[in-house]
Amino acid sequence: MPTNPVFASLPTSIFTVMSALAVRHKAINLGQGFPDIDGPEAVRAVAARALMDGPNQYPLMRGMMELRRALSAHAAKFYGLAYDAESEVLVTSGATEALAAAIFGLVARGDEIVLIEPHYDAYRPIAEAAGAVVKAITLSPPGWRLTAEALASAITPRTRAILMNTPLNPVGRVFDAEEMQALADAVARSNAVVICDEVYEHLTFDGRPHIPLATLTAANGAAMKDRCVRIGSAGKIFSLTGWKVGWVMGPKPLIDVLANVHQFLTFTTPPAQQLGVTHGLEREMDFPLALTQRLEGNRDVLARGLQEIGFDVLPSEGTYFLTARIDGLSNEKDLAFCERMVRQAGVAAIPLSSFFAGGTPDIYVRFAFCKQRSLLEEALTRLKASFRG
Ligand code: PMP
Ligand code: GLN
Repeated sequence: MPTNPVFASLPTSIFTVMSALAVRHKAINLGQGFPDIDGPEAVRAVAARALMDGPNQYPLMRGMMELRRALSAHAAKFYGLAYDAESEVLVTSGATEALAAAIFGLVARGDEIVLIEPHYDAYRPIAEAAGAVVKAITLSPPGWRLTAEALASAITPRTRAILMNTPLNPVGRVFDAEEMQALADAVARSNAVVICDEVYEHLTFDGRPHIPLATLTAANGAAMKDRCVRIGSAGKIFSLTGWKVGWVMGPKPLIDVLANVHQFLTFTTPPAQQLGVTHGLEREMDFPLALTQRLEGNRDVLARGLQEIGFDVLPSEGTYFLTARIDGLSNEKDLAFCERMVRQAGVAAIPLSSFFAGGTPDIYVRFAFCKQRSLLEEALTRLKASFRG
């Protein structure tokens, strides 16, 4: 049957595979990243009321003005970034749709796009479906640092887009000022725009700042705000991952094109959820700040416990995730290790090799700690019993 080879050759996403295994083996699911406590009741109450009272018909294609204004205010308040709500903010059905709209809107067949590995699994297939040529920068453990040299070797005059994610899923890096400045300087010397996946913007630990590339100026004076589209997700800010409310903001000429893609991907996003998220951005920003504190504590509990069992735990500076090296416990590859761990120990995790096109490194696994403390403790008890006998 005729199909698009980019998608026909894809396996089911590792998140779906491991979640299904977790259900089958009644395992604790520290694989797919979703919180086990729903976000603010007031946010859900506003959405619930809107479902009953309306509006329930197509909202504005680019997003309800209430939400676009709240998003513009959020960028101004947290980062001092000014985006015009009318023309520079686009609401999408999740960050995933924003990523697709950005990639399809910004790169054409034969253009080069730079991806920084490890990266979220959706990036590469969307880029390939757009006909782009992918150039990968592969970060190295244990520091996963982004360097000027790596950027210089991947960016060419044909590079039209660079996709960067900070805080970085899956390894929890929060790129620091030096790395972000190196990126700004490399972008300023290129013909590229940057798709900034900032869905974990509020989830940074130990007081580390999240630095949006759009806030920086390159050494040659180029303002990165003119070269960036910034993607965010209410799923991550308000622990409502099933809602699929995302957005992208950037200069009008770029957002105009992304809106043209969006109108043929989903056209709109459910109005009740948009109103709930508006309320959250205006009134419930204490929630992500408290969540960050809780996650920081969870990270420490999980890291200490895993270390005691014999995992070699890497630092996690942000996101829902930490990664741990497994070769002190087993000589299996990460996928085989995760398949055995879910069966034998009753704990699901994600093999890190899934985030690299080349399939290596394959001796790390990713654990999600966006879960209740008691569940993490139970997972550690199970792992201890399984690995320490
Ligand atoms: N980017 C990254 C780095 C993610 O981890 C995720 C989701 N987990 C997304 C994008 C997609 O977000 P959404 O659920 O809003 O589509
Ligand atoms: N972003 C989530 C993760 O990294 C997964 C989202 C999904 O399953 N598509 O775990």
